[in-house]
Amino acid sequence: MNKVVVLKKGKEESLRRFHPWVFSGAIHHIEGQPDEGDVVRVVSAGGDFLGWGHVQIGSIAVRILTFHEADPIDATFWRHRLRVAYDVRRTLGLTDSYRLVHGEGDDLPGLVIDIYGSTAVMQAHSVGMHVSRHAIAEALAEVMNGKVENIYYKSETTLPYKAGLHDENGYLLGGPADDVAYENGLRFHVDWMGGQKTGFFVDQRDNRALLETYAHGRRVLNMFCYTGGFSFYAMRGGAALVHSVDSSARAIDITRSNVELNFPDDPRHQAFAEDAFRFLDTMPGRDDAEGYDLIVLDPPAFAKHRDALHNALQGYRRLNAKAFQKIRPGGILFTFSCSQAVNKDQFRTAVFTAAAQSGRSVRILHQLHQPADHPVNIYHPEGEYLKGLVLYVE
Ligand code: SAH
Repeated sequence: MNKVVVLKKGKEESLRRFHPWVFSGAIHHIEGQPDEGDVVRVVSAGGDFLGWGHVQIGSIAVRILTFHEADPIDATFWRHRLRVAYDVRRTLGLTDSYRLVHGEGDDLPGLVIDIYGSTAVMQAHSVGMHVSRHAIAEALAEVMNGKVENIYYKSETTLPYKAGLHDENGYLLGGPADDVAYENGLRFHVDWMGGQKTGFFVDQRDNRALLETYAHGRRVLNMFCYTGGFSFYAMRGGAALVHSVDSSARAIDITRSNVELNFPDDPRHQAFAEDAFRFLDTMPGRDDAEGYDLIVLDPPAFAKHRDALHNALQGYRRLNAKAFQKIRPGGILFTFSCSQAVNKDQFRTAVFTAAAQSGRSVRILHQLHQPADHPVNIYHPEGEYLKGLVLYVE
């Protein structure tokens, strides 16, 4: 039987502009009793075809996969979408560690695939992608034509709990492999089974490379270091010392082993499992020779939802205020927000308010964003999430 989602009158406008989400409030009724994760046909109140998409219970009720009526969601569809995504990454010249599929940015809402050498780590953020995981893995192996030998599926933390899906983490192709991956010639372990997200944050690749160019001779503090990405780039850039801080002891262990992998027995690096706010409060001040003159602040998303926006902005302001207060004269601050609910202007206002409170003179050197392998679908501007500023503090 045909599974059809019929919209309320006038609610088709955003789909006609190719925005890929149908909110539950826009739905008039659903025909054919689809299960969560099924592919449904979405039509306007007048019965016009709008798109095929994955249905599920929640505020985003349908994620549109295609706006073309003649495109069935089958093996050919998955192969085509993955091939386009792969062509984009080849155009970018990416070969080692990169994001192959960035959800809506690659017209595959609900799906993320990161590549680490010969291993792909796949995450479903929708029930539909979860249901389709085997078909996607098959298409992926075909499109990558031998370049991917292992596909690890990891969705226990990204799927809606209420869908009642079981913990399905595991290999869809191959098995445990060498966990050392490369980025710009540096090496790191990827804990795709136990780590956050897919095990490494590939989205800071370009920004780490930029940091490397500023590191020479500087005393670097990498706050919220997770796997230590910014730390080993700073080491290669010739930093005088690098201190990595994260509240997770596990993250600190991974950071130590990643730095060790690239710079064995290098006394310039030290890592501390401590709370960021506490560390910033107790660390040496601006006029202390032991202070820092290059600070990275890359906190976790302070606002996961719009409701949390106010608190999130307070959090960014407080955090940055501490850094402005303590950084040595002539220091450089790399400060980021990865909260999708916080836009670029709101983040800037929070940071600039913090700067003003410290009374320091501050210049913008660079305005940073997510890299090209995390593309933004022009019809889905919400896909822009990573924002950063590189600031010179007099
Ligand atoms: N900069 C990292 C990514 C940071 S992810 C990279 O380039 O890969 C955010 C990190 O912040 C996580 O590792 C988490 O453990 C840590 N974290 C969360 N709250 C914290 C706090 N209050 N103090 C210190 N670290 C914290």
